[in-house]
Amino acid sequence: MYKHQNIELEILNFWKKHKIFDKLRKKNKGKKRWSFIDGPITANNPMGVHHAWGRTYKDLFHRFKAMNGFDTRYQNGFDSQGLWVEREEEKELGLNSKEDIEEFGIKKFVESCKKRVEKFSKVQTNQSIRLGYWMDWNNSYFTMTNTNNLHNWFLLKKYYDKKLLYKGHDVVPWCWRCGTASSKHDIVTEGYKEVSHKALFMQFPVKGKKNEYFLIFTTTPWTVPADVVIAANEKVDYVKVKQGDKYYWLAEKRISELKGDYEIIERKKGKALEGMKYKMPYRFLSQQKKSPHKVVLWELTSEEEGTGFVHVAPGCGAEDCDLGKKLKLTAIAPLDGAGFYTGDYGMFSNKKYSEVNKMVLEDLENRGFVYKIESYTHRYPHCWRCGEELVFRLVDEWYIRCNEIRSKLIKENKKIKWFPEYGKVRQKDWFNAMSDWLISRKRYYGLPLPIWECECGKVEVFGSLKELREKAIDKKKVDNLKEIHRPWVDEIKVKCSKCGKEVERIKDVGDAWLDAGIVSFSTMGPYLKNKKEWEKWFPADLISENMPGQYRGWFNALFWASVTLTGKAPFKSVFGYETLKDENGNEMHKSKGNAIWFDDAVEKIGADPMRLLYCLQNPGLELKFGFNVVKEPTNNINILYNMSRLIEKSKGSKKYKIEDKWILSKLNSLIDLVTEEIENLHPHLATNALQDFWLNDLSRGYIQFIRNRIAEGDKTALNVLSEVYLDLIKLLGPVIPFITERVYQDLKTKLKLKKESLFLESWPKANKKLINKKLEKDFEFFKKIVQDISSKREKVQMGNRWPLSKAVVSVDKPESLKRLKSLLEKQTNVKEIKFKKGKKLSIKLDTKLTKKLEQEGFARELMRFVQSSRKKAGLDKKDKISLVVETSYNLKNFEKDIKNKVGAKTIKFAVPKKKYKHEFEINIKENKFQIYFDPTK
Ligand SMILES: [Zn+2]
Ligand SMILES: [Zn+2]
Repeated sequence: MYKHQNIELEILNFWKKHKIFDKLRKKNKGKKRWSFIDGPITANNPMGVHHAWGRTYKDLFHRFKAMNGFDTRYQNGFDSQGLWVEREEEKELGLNSKEDIEEFGIKKFVESCKKRVEKFSKVQTNQSIRLGYWMDWNNSYFTMTNTNNLHNWFLLKKYYDKKLLYKGHDVVPWCWRCGTASSKHDIVTEGYKEVSHKALFMQFPVKGKKNEYFLIFTTTPWTVPADVVIAANEKVDYVKVKQGDKYYWLAEKRISELKGDYEIIERKKGKALEGMKYKMPYRFLSQQKKSPHKVVLWELTSEEEGTGFVHVAPGCGAEDCDLGKKLKLTAIAPLDGAGFYTGDYGMFSNKKYSEVNKMVLEDLENRGFVYKIESYTHRYPHCWRCGEELVFRLVDEWYIRCNEIRSKLIKENKKIKWFPEYGKVRQKDWFNAMSDWLISRKRYYGLPLPIWECECGKVEVFGSLKELREKAIDKKKVDNLKEIHRPWVDEIKVKCSKCGKEVERIKDVGDAWLDAGIVSFSTMGPYLKNKKEWEKWFPADLISENMPGQYRGWFNALFWASVTLTGKAPFKSVFGYETLKDENGNEMHKSKGNAIWFDDAVEKIGADPMRLLYCLQNPGLELKFGFNVVKEPTNNINILYNMSRLIEKSKGSKKYKIEDKWILSKLNSLIDLVTEEIENLHPHLATNALQDFWLNDLSRGYIQFIRNRIAEGDKTALNVLSEVYLDLIKLLGPVIPFITERVYQDLKTKLKLKKESLFLESWPKANKKLINKKLEKDFEFFKKIVQDISSKREKVQMGNRWPLSKAVVSVDKPESLKRLKSLLEKQTNVKEIKFKKGKKLSIKLDTKLTKKLEQEGFARELMRFVQSSRKKAGLDKKDKISLVVETSYNLKNFEKDIKNKVGAKTIKFAVPKKKYKHEFEINIKENKFQIYFDPTK
């Protein structure tokens, strides 16, 4: 039985002790290069099984390329700064807000984040090694290093010189808990959650009319005090309805929102409502003095939800802000960074936005501004780091313009090979739809943006420490700079070249996607230090990451950096994979209790079975992972392993029989197919073909065909089997490296193998001369006939051990099957098979038993039973027995056969005269057989 845990740990030791990975690298050094850029894993927590999925692919491609003789860099990456790390460390330290962090001390906090990264990068390294992932683990890159940060400074300076980096005054999605902007790039990916909010249908009185109201819809009551206009769509039909003594305006299509009976009085296009004024409930606030409080036209107003009127607060909504800029409306921006109303908004002052939500509902209700309030379920953006609901705030943030780069990105994406192919379209769609990239974060542990902005408006962006030093007031501070992080870098002041004042760095750090986006420059070469070396590896041949997350994330960031600095995409192909779910198809969550950690999984299941499961999976579909689904791959590996015991070296003659020719043809076709599919980024097709081969062609096929030949020591059969098996495990090495290495080591002496490790072997090359597609096809047909005969036998309860006298097989082309006749007779245990021409496959089976056939059947059943009883009794193959069979059925004719088959020195059909050590009983077709035996010499 295959004990994965023991085997895998042994093999890890073997690799380490004999430095197999180093020997592999040495062997391939200086040969043709294959360049891979690793997408950095956040060094924040131990790995989950979803990480192991992605890492298995990376290892598979690396091992495949290495066996094909390519020189590769084997560099793993750790994402090691930014909000994600900050958030986890905050939790660890029990800090809950930015104030807490500042009280704790920025310096201490940053040091603490770095320790976290150090700790978890080690954990993840050990886990990756346990998975069998071969990387140059002493040479992983970290995104927090000076090298990485300085490459980003260089890039940001380029953006600035091209006038693409700018400060914008805009409403942005904001996390009040993290106290920073979130970028649309983040939100679209993972930020939306389905939540229930209060939907407020307000009635605002029409100015100058009695009892006439606009019905207005909002799901964010806290924004109502900042309302400056309401918007209608000029093309939509609006109606005035009468309810009791009141009149309401709303879109005709939204009439179902009315409570109770109504009568339509008037119908107007939205255009005709433009300019009508209304009484706003908070017009008394000082900020509202200049607001027009009238109907404006806006094409984004929809008649598909609410009432067809929306209230517009340009200081509280991104689209509202755009409209506000266009119409020159006041932007009232009530929230501070922590989500509280600032000090001069009357009753709302110093109240948190969620509190204001409740107050507004209550206040409007009391004052007669509410038509109805309902519960409303919708998808609403949340902070993808901490999970809190986002708000929208008007703030100054730094952006990179996208319009100048958009078309170049789209053009470069066209040249890239994607698998799954839909990735290419999604990437293009993202490039088409994306807006300017908000890169600043008001946080602590991240890339310090190299921007020094003077009160007078003068902005300096430094692309290197040298440039900074030139302008620095105290140059020693640059020379002695500990690292390019806050708070150290904040101490460096420069002199304004316009007004001469002392200028500080802006406090912002960069979006962590910048950190990961620069790695095709900072890790190869690196670009700024050794451009020659960098040129050898750029662009990469492949990157491989989780698909859904990265269009706006890593893929996007890599593209931006590379197209800006070189005009080219940084990689030639992308292999992606979908999300990993639990066995029931639910998302895995720590909080739900269904998350599976890598350590638990590898302990219980082993790395190889997980890897096989991963590699069989179609990467374009979600993977359901769990301890039940992994049972099948585990069993299949077991079958592969057990076959290795049949392998023996034998100086073979090459007198191939038909089944030998067939399996050699299948093997060589398989080598071609597997090589091609991995090259084409279809590891799942390669793996499925491999598994199908070892289960169906080898274990249930060829090995069954040659069972008797093996028993007889047929050299050709043994030789073919060992050749096929050895190539099979080479092809499987990249998928399941442990068991294949184990088997290779086991077979080393037997087969006189010369290489120290399976992975120092070369990838098999197909021998085209041995490929015979016609024969492969005939064997497919052969298998079908065997199956049909077997199911016919089942129907009459006459299992395969009962010899039958004859069968007639009608087929389209009987000639081509004639060469398989004798093999077919053996496989189906039919004495004679005749082929006849017929339109389609049909089989006539003679199931009549003659006395002789019946006896043969009984003898075979008995032999099988004695064999298994011997095994139960703990006897070895070589042990001889003295056997007594007590039965009323006459098997005298087969005495000799049975004796030989079961290794009996003596056999008697009689009632035993003494006590035997072993005693077993079986009924075969209502005949009782009692057997007794003792081991003998
Ligand atoms: Zn947050
Ligand atoms: Zn100045």
